[in-house]
Amino acid sequence: MFYRHVFRTLLFPSRKAHLGGLQRFYRAQRPLCTGSDEVRLAEEASRKYGSQAPSIFSKIMDRSIPADIIYEDDKCLAFRDISPQAPVHFLVIPRKPIPRISQAHDDDAELLGHLLVVAKNVAEQESLTEGYRVVINDGKHGAQSVYHLHVHVLGGRQMTWPPG
Ligand code: AMP
Repeated sequence: MFYRHVFRTLLFPSRKAHLGGLQRFYRAQRPLCTGSDEVRLAEEASRKYGSQAPSIFSKIMDRSIPADIIYEDDKCLAFRDISPQAPVHFLVIPRKPIPRISQAHDDDAELLGHLLVVAKNVAEQESLTEGYRVVINDGKHGAQSVYHLHVHVLGGRQMTWPPG
């Protein structure tokens, strides 16, 4: 833990530099990511992690890795996607570690509603006045790669349909 901290501080003296370093690392892992790469990554994640938390998003919540957090409350937080697919692309995640939407329970209804209300409020905060897309990927066929439920909000450009 100590050595990891020293190493990180030497490499990235500020939090912003650390985030930039993470972004460069992430992009290097996914150079020119195509649709089929996304599916392969999602398949790997589904094999590797199944539906088990914790995921990388738990580390964002406990602040052990940096993220550009744009909203938080006692039930959820919203942060910018590290590999944005639109001029504005953020994720809303519940603090409760629900791995995927298909594993949410009926009594999570209020929390799930809250995530959508926050998605809408943050979209407004981000000035997405022309509209936006809200997406939840589930499991292998949904190309989910991080097994902590998250709502994608994408905006700032014209979307097309159908999705890949
Ligand atoms: P999904 O494929 O629906 O599971 O989406 C996972 C999303 O998480 C992808 O859009 C990634 O770019 C994003 N992501 C992965 N790691 C991070 C991170 N450390 N910070 C912000 N976004 C991330």
